[in-house]
Amino acid sequence: MPLGELHGKHLVTIEGLNMDHLSPVQQAIVDEGATQCGFCTPGIVVSLTGYLMKDKIIINEEGVKKTLSGHLCRCTGYRSLKQSAFFLKDTVEGHTGIDTLVANRMIPDYFPGIPDRLRKMQSSVFGAGEKSTDYFIAGGTDLYVQKGDLLPESKVHLLNLHPEMKAISKKNGYIHVGALTTFEEFANHPDIANAIPDIQAYMSRIASLQIRNRATLGGNIINASPIGDMTTLLLALEAVLVLENDAQSRTVPITSFFRGYKQLDKIPSEILADILIPEFPLNTKINFEKVSKRKYLDIASVNSAMKIRREDGIIREIGLSMGGVAPVPLFLKATSHYFIGKQVCRDVVEGAFSIIQQEICPISDIRGSVDYKRLLARQLIIAHFTKLFPERVAVRDFYETY
Ligand SMILES: Cc1cc2nc3c(=O)[nH]c(=O)nc-3n(C[C@H](O)[C@H](O)[C@H](O)COP(=O)(O)OP(=O)(O)OC[C@H]3O[C@@H](n4cnc5c(N)ncnc54)[C@H](O)[C@@H]3O)c2cc1C
Repeated sequence: MPLGELHGKHLVTIEGLNMDHLSPVQQAIVDEGATQCGFCTPGIVVSLTGYLMKDKIIINEEGVKKTLSGHLCRCTGYRSLKQSAFFLKDTVEGHTGIDTLVANRMIPDYFPGIPDRLRKMQSSVFGAGEKSTDYFIAGGTDLYVQKGDLLPESKVHLLNLHPEMKAISKKNGYIHVGALTTFEEFANHPDIANAIPDIQAYMSRIASLQIRNRATLGGNIINASPIGDMTTLLLALEAVLVLENDAQSRTVPITSFFRGYKQLDKIPSEILADILIPEFPLNTKINFEKVSKRKYLDIASVNSAMKIRREDGIIREIGLSMGGVAPVPLFLKATSHYFIGKQVCRDVVEGAFSIIQQEICPISDIRGSVDYKRLLARQLIIAHFTKLFPERVAVRDFYETY
């Protein structure tokens, strides 16, 4: 997080959680023997305390696992850390949320007074940065990895100082998603959960909670990685991008935004302000697939998304996208077009295999060979249809012929 984003905020470090007795989180870690070298322990204490600060949560192993998903313990203390869930369940259950935790002396008692203290500081208005800028920074999860050495000496524009670029709302047939919306904010919004019912399952395959709390949809699109997960999903949804600079605002379909490797239909002064997802009829189905070397916490070798709507058994609308098979995140125009007007059956799905192979041009790299990625392209088309239409096609249908 850029330091400038902390302006007007209260930062709680590990020291700020100490009291004259151990908090339930500290006690759980002691009692379960969940610390060894101790290197990862402060972060884990902070994350677990943050988990308990949410109002009225049901403490369970899943929640603890999700909270700790981005923490690495090289002493392999995961089992005892997971055990701490049961300890916390017994000691804290029913007492979550800041006010309740304070009342039960589970976190220091200064927490509820923080908003008042911040108000009293009457900090002067802080600009979002200079107009001429070397870098726009959103969540920084790509930028600090790629340009970490250059940023301290550069002119930067902290986009997160524009909270108006975060909202999600429905208007004129679109779900408007501010480009600064984080992956977690996106997945937890009721309009998104409604439109994309399995979004939480997809999230579990994308980065870790800590990264998803910072990573923005806009950053994923502008970074233009051929394997950006949210970009692949938004391509299948045929989102429309709203680009703005001082002079003008214009819209570009995401399907034509990527022009070559990291080449965008965007001039340097433009920021991506909004992402418009066309609302779709209720009978529309969506699926997202990701294949990576490791199931969790890994970038994709190949990913793919599909949006499909059938009427009277016939495919009327379809958007297929794939990442990791071209220099850009790819909207599969020809393959999508092929399916229109057809039924869902084995022959039709198989008919797409040769078309998709013409549309993609993968390269061999650390994430897999050309042959492997071409095979995955075929497999992921099968996965979309067998998952969304199990009554029409099954995985075994496709193995009988091979
Ligand atoms: C440990 C780790 C794990 C990760 N795992 C995944 C994963 O599983 N899947 C995945 O897809 N990605 C993953 N990423 C990559 C990254 O988190 C995402 O690409 C993220 O969406 C980037 O968003 P950001 O807000 O952090 O972008 P930033 O790093 O802030 O910016 C990225 C680029 O976009 C530009 N930019 C950002 N927002 C705007 C805007 N609104 N207008 C104009 N330009 C803008 C910036 O100038 C920069 O060039 C991972 C990263 C890390 C560090």
